[in-house]
Amino acid sequence: MKVIKIGGGCLKGIPTIRHITELTSTHAKGHVIVVSALYGVTDILIDGIQKALQDEEKIMPHIEVLLRLHLSVARFIMKSESCIQGFHQDLSGAMKQLERYYYGLNFTGELTPKMKDAISCMGERFSALLLSWTLQSLGVAAASMTPQTMGLYTDGKFGDATIDLPAATESLNSTLKPALQTYDMIFIPGFYGISLKGEITTFGRGGSDYAAAAVAAALSADLLEIWKDVDGFMTANPKFVPQAAFINRLSYEECAELSYFGASILHPRTVEPVRQRNIEIVIKNTLNPDAQGTIISEKSEQSDLVIKSITYTDDVSILKVHASGVGYRPGILSIVASALTDAGLNIRSVVATQTCISFLFSKKDIDEAYATLEKIRPVPYRALEKERELVLLAIVGEGLSSSKGVAARCFSAIAEQGINVEMISFGPSKAALYFLLKQEDLHKGIHALHATFFTAGKADKQTIAPVS
Ligand code: ASP
Ligand code: MG
Repeated sequence: MKVIKIGGGCLKGIPTIRHITELTSTHAKGHVIVVSALYGVTDILIDGIQKALQDEEKIMPHIEVLLRLHLSVARFIMKSESCIQGFHQDLSGAMKQLERYYYGLNFTGELTPKMKDAISCMGERFSALLLSWTLQSLGVAAASMTPQTMGLYTDGKFGDATIDLPAATESLNSTLKPALQTYDMIFIPGFYGISLKGEITTFGRGGSDYAAAAVAAALSADLLEIWKDVDGFMTANPKFVPQAAFINRLSYEECAELSYFGASILHPRTVEPVRQRNIEIVIKNTLNPDAQGTIISEKSEQSDLVIKSITYTDDVSILKVHASGVGYRPGILSIVASALTDAGLNIRSVVATQTCISFLFSKKDIDEAYATLEKIRPVPYRALEKERELVLLAIVGEGLSSSKGVAARCFSAIAEQGINVEMISFGPSKAALYFLLKQEDLHKGIHALHATFFTAGKADKQTIAPVS
């Protein structure tokens, strides 16, 4: 049995949605399907939060927009009037719940992380109903279940939950698994699970991939298939590098690194649950369903190219904490890191030298991080500094750390372009080397690296043969 995840990019516009439902009817029998919200719906739900806080009168028109959107799709793609009616009824029930949340917000005037999660995951509820009713209208015995009804348990952290795999395994095996005997396929809303107390907790934006991985792990599925509108991972972003090539295979480690920094193919934590049960992930292009997409598993392909891909993100900024003898004075790192963590800030990475600790943050977090450290008394550092105009470039490949000369080749390619490297981190992951450079040097940097590691011809491969 497979777990299939259908992304929001595949649920965009009537012809695409119709195509997906047809593909599902032929390719998904006997399997579990985890769905994203229709394209753009999560953003609409989140926009509604501000409207509801501002003005009660804005709530019903907002609900009306969402209702009409889903119903108009249903009218175009469902073959039977009774299925349209059945969907309408189920959808109205879910919309009523959303309405109550928005009114609750307006009444209390306060947005809690719990409420934000409860509201933002509603799009997945709607789309799971839409798809399961559409498949029924095509004569398939489809059903839908929710994380609530099947017990997809998490650690209870709002906005960034982690699956409680033992608890979810136990419950899904007694809820979802038997249901698969009765139905041809079961649709599940992605993006969230529930705490042991039954509260809705999302897995963060883009979290339907993770939800699907969690369901696959809990069921010990044979495979996790991610349906997208691309073939999979590439050696670089093809928008920048036209010569970029498709990647056949990646290891979990490589996939995690590529997803964490840049490549927006998968939610960065998707590999975590499936890795624990050794389940392969396959990216399937719904526009080209017979093509073999990127396969992700424990071992990556033994390629003579150590580097699999070059990725980047511009969503980084650095907070530098200058202090002398960072390495000698115990405690500085833990004082500043705990202050940042206590403030609920996500440290994306940290690099320490004797005189400076550099924390990497998403751009949105840098000001709060700076303000948090400014408040620490007694002051444990000499100076603080923020840098925003940077981008992070990463080369990713398993075996990178055990192969001779890769870092040297990387940095000589960069130096030849006259690019100044601001900071380097090599070591935290065996499969990635990343460094920061000025925004304006990004394109030059990517091209130089891609030419060095991929397009410079076969002769290159010999010089970076793995040591072991
Ligand atoms: N719909 C959610 C989002 O837009 C989750 C997902 O699609 O993965 O973030
Ligand atoms: Mg996504």
